[in-house]
Order: sequence, then C-alpha cells, then structure tokens
Amino acid sequence: AEENPGNGGGGQPGATGGGTGAAGGGFEGNALIGVALPQKTSENWVLAESLFNEDLKAAGFQADVQFANNGVSEQQNQIQSMVTKGAKVIVVGAIDGGQISSQVQAAKDAGATVIAYDRLIKNTEAVDYYVAYDNYKVGQLQGQALLDGMKAKKPNGPYNIELFAGSPDDANAKVFFDGAMNILKPKLDDGTLKVASGQTDFTQAVTQGWKAENAQKRMDTLLAGSYSSAELDGVLSPNDTLARAIITSVKQAGKDVPVVTGQDSEVESVKSIVAGEQYSTINKDTRNLVKATVGMIKALQAGQQPEVNDTQQYNNGVKVVPANLLEPMIVTKENVKEAYAGDPTLSKLTNG
Ligand code: BGC
Repeated sequence: AEENPGNGGGGQPGATGGGTGAAGGGFEGNALIGVALPQKTSENWVLAESLFNEDLKAAGFQADVQFANNGVSEQQNQIQSMVTKGAKVIVVGAIDGGQISSQVQAAKDAGATVIAYDRLIKNTEAVDYYVAYDNYKVGQLQGQALLDGMKAKKPNGPYNIELFAGSPDDANAKVFFDGAMNILKPKLDDGTLKVASGQTDFTQAVTQGWKAENAQKRMDTLLAGSYSSAELDGVLSPNDTLARAIITSVKQAGKDVPVVTGQDSEVESVKSIVAGEQYSTINKDTRNLVKATVGMIKALQAGQQPEVNDTQQYNNGVKVVPANLLEPMIVTKENVKEAYAGDPTLSKLTNG
C-alpha cells in the first residue's frame, strides 16, 4: 500500500485539511482496520465485536476484530500482527492498559493511528485518541445512585455500605472508583455512611479480572465477618456482572437485598431492575460508542482530524489523550422504560 504524505493526495495544499500531523494524510477507502478487544468480561464487549464488524464493513473498510481471551500476551501478539498486516488504524480495548506500550509504539512507527477504545492506554506517547463514555462521570452517577436508593428506602442514616471496584489492570477501574468516592467520601467523613469491614481503599475493593466469582467470594467473606447482626444497606458495584454476584451472595446468606449499583445495561440486570432487585445500572449504548469510533476512522481516512470534545481529563501518565467522550446515563426502575425505548433488545424487557 502506498503512503500518502501531506493532506491526502487530491487535497489542495494550504487548505484546511492536513491537521497537526496525528491525522496524517488519509488512506485508502478499503484499508484494513484492526480492533483488539479484551476478554468477554461483560456483554458490551461481545456486542462491540459484531458492531465493529458490521459498521466497518458498511463503511467500506476491511475489519480484523479480535478478542484476547487468553490474556495480555495474546492481545500483544494480536496488535503486533495487525501492524504487520498493515492496518491503518488500530483500535484497542486494552486488557491491561499499561502492558501494550511497545505494540502501540510499533503501530505508530508503521504509520498507523492508535485509538484507545473504552479503556485508556497508559504510559505511552503512542496513543492518538481516546473514545469512551465518560468513566469518571459513570462513577459519580453510581455513587449518587447508591445514596439516592438508600435514602428512598430509609430516609435517615447512618447507612452501612460496602465498596467494590473493578479489575486493577483495567485503567477504567480506578476512574470509576474515584468518581464514586468523589460523591461518597464526604458522607463517609461526616458519618452518614459506614463501611463495617473498614475496606475503603481501591486496593482492598478490587475484583481481579472483573470475575463474578471473585466478587461473590469477597461478599461472602464481608457478610460473614461484619454483618452477622448488622444490616447492610448498600453496595457500590462497578458493573452489572459483579452486581448480580453480590446479590447472589447476599441472598445465599439469607439477608435482605441491599441497594446495589451497576453498569452496562446487561439483559439479566435490566430484568432485575424491572423486578425491583438490583437498584441501578448505567446506559452506555455500545452502538453509539462503536459509531463514534467508526466516525473517527472515517475522518482519518479522509485526512481530517477526528472530532474530540475533551483535551484535559484523560492523562495517561505521559500525555493528555484527546478524547471523544460520550455521556453515560443512570437507569433505575423509575426511568428504565424511557432509557431503553430505542434499544431493540432491552425495550422488550421493560414493556411488561
Ligand atoms: C468497561 C465496563 C465493563 C468492564 C468489564 C470496563 O472497562 O468500561 O463497561 O463493565 O470493563 O468488562
């Protein structure tokens, strides 16, 4: 494939095209686009696979979409192989955002553009753009939902809560937790909230690999250790998969289901919300995130700068990565119907 320096061959020199360099000069309309997805730790990733295949092909590109179910080294090899095959853009949902810097550097050296998808790529210059739902906002919405849900059940505190975080290798996990703690910390400080286990640090709250079994086990331990007589009013859960594991643990312990937050709008969790069990989830429609990503790729193909709306928030350790951030939305039983009205699968669950 030929390289196209400047602003896209046919473009007028001195016209608006060309940008600052990251966009380069565009590339062929049927170029290969690589998409490296992590493990299938939640439904959104599974959905992303088919959407990327469909949307990239519909836009005329060739798509190479890969999961790395066996972990970090598999994902490293997949990215390297996309580079070797000459992919013009490599989209990465990193398993471990800190472990792929040499692969994305190889992509840059080969002239490809690197887009971090959903999860930030850390500690490298070799990432051009970030596209994601605003993760800090997700955490804030979860923290607020936890407070609102407990208040609705019991107008006055203090409330007993426990805190769960995602997998520490996923760059998002800390951001979700920090966003939630931004809301919860003042209430912990003034005594409205109590964490009976004392486990309030991110490192104590993490769930390795985003695995349901790990959250369930930790919840079992917390219940046995701190709640043999005390009531548990709420649990901060970073996503739906873990929320359901936490609810399972509480039920097995014969306790009332507390207010439990979530994220991702997974089918079983939306059902649980409709049934009045899980309290909240977050709507981060994967269709819109993939659409936004493919929109960025089309801009790059045309030799233009992709649209970004944030150039401050997402510092990856060595640079602030220009980001296209989408708005997450809180969903509870109250707005579940409106929230999924446009979703062909989820709207069916809320019309009962
Ligand atoms: C995503 C979440 C998801 C989690 C586990 C995160 O990086 O942002 O939507 O729940 O990974 O798959």
